[in-house]
Amino acid sequence: MNHFSRKTGEPVLASATLRGTQPGRRAPLSAARPYARFPMAPLQPMKGLVSLIEVETAQPVLALTFDDGPDPERTPRVLDMLAEAGARATFFVIGQKVLRHADLARRIVAEGHEIGNHSFSHPYLVTQGDDAVLREVDLAQRAVFDVVGHQPVIFRAPHGRFTPHQKAMLHANRALPTIGWNVDPKDWRYPGETLIAERMIAGAAPGAILLAHDVNDQMLGALPETLAGILAQGLEFRTISALLGWPRWQDRQPLSLPEPALAASA
Ligand SMILES: [Zn+2]
Repeated sequence: MNHFSRKTGEPVLASATLRGTQPGRRAPLSAARPYARFPMAPLQPMKGLVSLIEVETAQPVLALTFDDGPDPERTPRVLDMLAEAGARATFFVIGQKVLRHADLARRIVAEGHEIGNHSFSHPYLVTQGDDAVLREVDLAQRAVFDVVGHQPVIFRAPHGRFTPHQKAMLHANRALPTIGWNVDPKDWRYPGETLIAERMIAGAAPGAILLAHDVNDQMLGALPETLAGILAQGLEFRTISALLGWPRWQDRQPLSLPEPALAASA
């Protein structure tokens, strides 16, 4: 059943229990752990999960998300830092950048991170009709599928702007939940690396979803301190799917995309 965030009134997913996590015991940070060793809870039915901004869990796990890549200069540095920290993250990618930087998208997947759909061309969607929204989503699904062989199972709206109707419409038509965040360090305002790290570390808590951008130099500068500060609290970084106790996103059954919407874009 859904609960509602005390902070924002947005629905949050309840009962995303993650079994097997042992607080206080972490693998060495240098070793990137095989995904299969992450404790997995039983499948959460996707049905009913239209959107969320945080996950209710007592386990010391949270999700770090990076929007707007892949970026040829910065995303590799983010991946290096995540590997060094033994952290898994979720990259909400822009479809047309995935086509341009296919090797980077493949590297994201190869290193155990999740790819989410962040639209094909990053437009403001709130003023657009359902067909236009679905076309942006479908083109991005297809771009990711063509490049890495798997389709995302989650969506995040460009600029975070998406109406309740659009969330419900997307879920009804494509079974994609819209993933928001409950921690925003506002790196997009360039407040300085120190403040970004402070905001990320202060907001870190079990079930939190942290917003970041792997196209932002200040975020990159703040990332080592952010990762260390959060790990020092005994929290572990999971992909969104892992946080929800879902199977590996890349094992999910591909959505069947309607050809006409795609053909219209050719
Ligand atoms: Zn974005």
